[in-house]
Amino acid sequence: MAQRKSLESSALVKLNIGGTIFKCYAETLKTFPDSKLARLNDNKKGAFDFKEEEYFFDRDPNLFSYILDSYRKGAIHLPKEICGTTFKAELEFWDVSPRHVASCCWEALYRSEDDKQTMDTLIQRIQQNPNMLLMQEEKLTLRAKLWLFFDEPGSSKLALVWSIFISCVIITSILVDFVSTIEMFREHVSDSQSRLFSKFADTVHMKNITLDRILNMKPCNELLITNVVLHVILTSELVVSFIICEDKTVFKSCVFRHIAFFGYLFYWISLSISLNLVDLDSMYAVIACFIFNYLSIFRYARLFYLTRSVPVFRILRLTFEASKQELKMLVFLLAMLVCVFGYVMFAAEFTQNATITNAFVTVYWALITMTTVGYGDYVPVTAAGHVIAGACAVCGVIVLALPVGIIVSKFYKYYAFYELTMKRPKTIIDSLITAKDGGSKD
Ligand SMILES: [Zn+2]
Repeated sequence: MAQRKSLESSALVKLNIGGTIFKCYAETLKTFPDSKLARLNDNKKGAFDFKEEEYFFDRDPNLFSYILDSYRKGAIHLPKEICGTTFKAELEFWDVSPRHVASCCWEALYRSEDDKQTMDTLIQRIQQNPNMLLMQEEKLTLRAKLWLFFDEPGSSKLALVWSIFISCVIITSILVDFVSTIEMFREHVSDSQSRLFSKFADTVHMKNITLDRILNMKPCNELLITNVVLHVILTSELVVSFIICEDKTVFKSCVFRHIAFFGYLFYWISLSISLNLVDLDSMYAVIACFIFNYLSIFRYARLFYLTRSVPVFRILRLTFEASKQELKMLVFLLAMLVCVFGYVMFAAEFTQNATITNAFVTVYWALITMTTVGYGDYVPVTAAGHVIAGACAVCGVIVLALPVGIIVSKFYKYYAFYELTMKRPKTIIDSLITAKDGGSKD
């Protein structure tokens, strides 16, 4: 074969890449016919040094050694530790198509693109904080300073102290709610209220035990007053921050703040109704009191709003947004398997098991088994049922573990990247300022 080679094809080509000399057969360079190296002889003008009789290219010789090697092997393999973007730029320069990259090296080539995308998303998310630019301004108005004090714990030490104080108030108010459900902290309602509740119970055909509980559910005065004081603080904080907020769209942008606002509103309505229940002396007032009392649960949204400034929670939210595909897969797979196992179980047990009355019962059983909860309220009695139950439990463990693993790895990646961004906060702020200036010029 070698003897059949023409003189032209077996001729040596001398390449000077960034000062390092590479030599190869001219034929080797024809491996990728569309590439720059394959067309060298067609165009001797540009890179050819007639004095040294070599082609000179001002490129990285280390990367070129991998490029040249790919001409010898017919496929491109790249060093695993290299940034894929750099190597891609190199391939572009030599007009070598990335489709020649061997499948074992795809991960190395495209990983950097994924990483860049993840980092961009993260930076974008950090920049979405409307207080970010405000914090960079040197001369702030008193109103802006107050806004940062209320809304951005990271803006100053005082703001941090305030946010810790507010967190304690929220947690205490929730604790008070829970403590007031303990029997020793509850009181019997007044006689006139008791009459009203009994009338209500008769109208809606309530069971005696439920009525008894309602009559004894009034929290003791100490807890009631504590909760009122805590809610005065929380409501005024919300109202004051609304008043001092210069850009109301910033205030309105947080959905949890809206929910919390309605939660506080419902709390005050339910409290005022319950205090005036006897004067109102109406069935509707009792019903309204119950409804608003339940709806006041929305005030717990303030807790979620608080997590907004904690990085881990922000990353968690980002992870869920980025894992929509995996979550969809989890729900779809779970639904499919629950239906299959539910129906098979129904077919196996229906004639033998008295507790299994219809297929919905077995579908519920399959869901509880697959999620590894297993209440044990429905159990198989036949041999086939036991086999199905075993298979169902094993499938559940596998199906749940798969997407959870992917989601967790995404969380770790975001978290690691977040720590990197925090090492260069200036980059984020600078790009934000540039974007803003560019935007305002337009
Ligand atoms: Zn490879």
